[in-house]
Amino acid sequence: MAAGVSLVPEDDRNDFAGRRDLAFRVYVAAVSLSGLAVLVLAALSLDPASVLGLEPAFWALCALLLVAEVRPLFTAGARDANGLALSTSFVFALLLRYGLPISVLVQAVATTVADVSRRKAPWRTAFNIGQFTLSWSAAAVVMELAGHEASTAAPLDLMGADLVAAGLGGITYFLVNQLLVTVALSLKTGRSVLRLLRDDLAYEGLSSGALLALSPLIVLAVGRGTAFLPLLLPPLAAVYQVASVALQREQQALTDALTGLPNRTLLGTRTAESLLESGDAGTALLLFDLDRFKEVNDTLGHHVGDRFLQVVASRLAAAVRPGDTVVRLGGDEFALLLPATGAEEAEQTARRLLEAVRAPIVLDGLHVDVDASVGIAVAPEHGDDLDALLQHADVAMYLAKGTGSGVEHYDVSRDRNTTSRLVMLGELRRALSGGELEVHYQPKARLVSGRVTGVEALVRWRHPERGLVPPDDFVPLAESSGLIEALTGHVLDRAVGQAAAWRTQGLDLRVAVNVSVRDLSGNLLVDSVIASLTLHGLPACCLLLEVTEGSLFAESHRTAATLLRLDELGVCLSLDDFGTGWSSLGRLRRLPVQELKVDRSFVQRMAADARDAAIVRSVVDLGVGLGMRVVAEGVEDRATWRLLTEMGCDEAQGWLLSRAEPAEVLTPWLLARQAADVARASAVTG
Ligand code: C2E
Ligand code: MG
Ligand code: MG
Repeated sequence: MAAGVSLVPEDDRNDFAGRRDLAFRVYVAAVSLSGLAVLVLAALSLDPASVLGLEPAFWALCALLLVAEVRPLFTAGARDANGLALSTSFVFALLLRYGLPISVLVQAVATTVADVSRRKAPWRTAFNIGQFTLSWSAAAVVMELAGHEASTAAPLDLMGADLVAAGLGGITYFLVNQLLVTVALSLKTGRSVLRLLRDDLAYEGLSSGALLALSPLIVLAVGRGTAFLPLLLPPLAAVYQVASVALQREQQALTDALTGLPNRTLLGTRTAESLLESGDAGTALLLFDLDRFKEVNDTLGHHVGDRFLQVVASRLAAAVRPGDTVVRLGGDEFALLLPATGAEEAEQTARRLLEAVRAPIVLDGLHVDVDASVGIAVAPEHGDDLDALLQHADVAMYLAKGTGSGVEHYDVSRDRNTTSRLVMLGELRRALSGGELEVHYQPKARLVSGRVTGVEALVRWRHPERGLVPPDDFVPLAESSGLIEALTGHVLDRAVGQAAAWRTQGLDLRVAVNVSVRDLSGNLLVDSVIASLTLHGLPACCLLLEVTEGSLFAESHRTAATLLRLDELGVCLSLDDFGTGWSSLGRLRRLPVQELKVDRSFVQRMAADARDAAIVRSVVDLGVGLGMRVVAEGVEDRATWRLLTEMGCDEAQGWLLSRAEPAEVLTPWLLARQAADVARASAVTG
């Protein structure tokens, strides 16, 4: 039998859990209703006129009680999140001086106000009130048996029987309250009552003891006259302060040092609480991942990266509702826990948050754009614990990143995508060895003369069922799975072989191969290049490697070393899709790059859009100024060709010239074109 497998069959375990859940509900209802019954009796026993006529100190205590209840000292890890409440001291003081009925009513009002402001579930508030009412009632019974009589007439006799009675009352309150909460917890979690009591009794006893011991002092002060009450405030504030410091330490273990947000540990506690409270109302978990943070970090430095994260964190924290939790999971990943929230509301929140973080951040005078992708998972449909919710939100987040939609919900049918991803990965692996990957070639020509100078190798997958699959549909998969080095090696070998074959036909062309950032940081590329060039006898200067701008600027030491070795070999480098990445002009100057390829998104619109034309013109000027060859990709019409020629751009690639074609289609075209070039040249010279 595998380690960790329970001897209890799955069905039985579910059955136990179901029965326990029912017992929990019955128990919560019983405590709530009993408490309510006592409150009704208490209300009936009071004469409103005599309540209104109570001394000012009574109202002052009520006000203090309310403040303390709404602002408790949260023990960060407190199991019921009620926190350490100074309000306990005030309720006990009320009980000692004014008796049970008014004390439990005041306590019930204060609890309701505090719980509503914290968006607690109504059943939870009802249970809290029930639990407190029953505990204080038990304390009152014991005190009465011990001879204590609540009275505003006589001050408390701290030296006599009253002190003993108060002590017994305090102990009774503590024990009954502890027992009521522990039984609920035991029914919910399945842990034994005794074990739970043993875990918590010492800590809870100490903190509650300290709070309860304050009450006779409060009563004494009030008995001396309302004027004494303010004297109590400084020591109470001091107690509050000392406890705050202790709690701060505890909280440090639960927060992220950089942003001050809660961390994953606290997310675990809060999620468990929310799942318990929200039930069928749903608990939404949003996974929030910044797009291209790594580039900011690598380009502008860690110090700026840290500040960037702090700004994003504060924007997120400011944009959520009270009761929601924003957590930094690590790196550029944040999670948001939204209690009592369904799928639709979660999506609205996600979109609102995206809007909130999207404004550019100014760091060291630079405007840095922020964007992010959000994945949403909602309990109970997508999981009933933190791990399941996080995993599913993660799948949704990657979907959002992949589709560029910004926000996606987890969807089981689309998660089969992960299964189909695995299937596709297996197929791609087979395609590589089975010859299903084809290389097509697209020419580049000089703008002024129209002479073809080289070709770009572009991979395609001839899938047995899906037909010709474009690279955008499988290159990212290869990149994220480690298959890219094999793919690049394959394309490189085919392209270098083809260039060598063309040379034997008199076609002297530079061949360009696209490499990804994983190739540059891996250790196979240089060896593959040397092996291919040697095997096919092609000079290194006939090979050009195209690297996207974004990947070069996320440069690591290994990338830099690879670039240097390629440069030493005499292989040329081209900066692809220029204008779409995060350029640092300083770094551009230092890179061993011979060619800039203006991204086709600008080129395609430059004839119609003056702003795009301005961008292209600037890139051309920049490249020419740095001594690089500038190539415009995506040239589809003559107007664009003419404009580019006027701007001083060197070469063009695009459908106007030719689409990417297999070598057997392109070779006759290249030969015809060369023959025409030669004829034109001899006509000019002859
Ligand atoms: P890229 O390197 O920027 O390649 C240029 C893309 O623009 C090619 O798309 C090409 O077919 C397309 N194109 C060229 N002229 C025009 C035009 O006039 N109009 C329009 N609309 N499009 C034009 P393709 O072949 O789909 O490749 C897409 C991207 O996939 C490439 O962008 C490159 O980043 C990547 N890729 C292709 N082959 C490989 C490869 O062997 N290895 C790696 N790592 N990436 C590759
Ligand atoms: Mg390219
Ligand atoms: Mg490109």
